[in-house]
Amino acid sequence: MSSSSQVVADCLFCKIGAGLIPVKPLYEDERVMAFADIHPQAPTHVLFIPKTHYANGGEAPAELLGHLLHAAAAFGKAQLAGGYRIVMNTGEHGGQTVDHLHLHVLGGRHMAWPPG
Ligand code: 5GP
Ligand code: ZN
Repeated sequence: MSSSSQVVADCLFCKIGAGLIPVKPLYEDERVMAFADIHPQAPTHVLFIPKTHYANGGEAPAELLGHLLHAAAAFGKAQLAGGYRIVMNTGEHGGQTVDHLHLHVLGGRHMAWPPG
């Protein structure tokens, strides 16, 4: 299977992006959408995904990555005045558990550094 295509039938985030699994959209445009993480790690924990399938950031085109990051940062700027963290876990060592590109936006508390 190619690492990128429009929508992958057995991909959880493709289904969410296509509206097949309903979520409350916290942001949406023609290319990306955002929704609350099901297991929040902070008072605010939002996932930003492209509606098309890319396994991770290394597979995605620069323009889409920029758009995704721009949308996530705009959300943080608008909603998280105290600051926020944007995370892109990638691969096994990175702790990625869903193989569809996504950014975590975490806020509402102080973040530790270094991350675990
Ligand atoms: P990763 O570990 O790949 O960086 O992040 C995947 C995230 O997706 C996890 O934080 C996990 O809690 C979240 N997640 C997994 N399944 C679902 C789901 O069905 N709905 C939502 N809203 N989030 C999910
Ligand atoms: Zn997908």
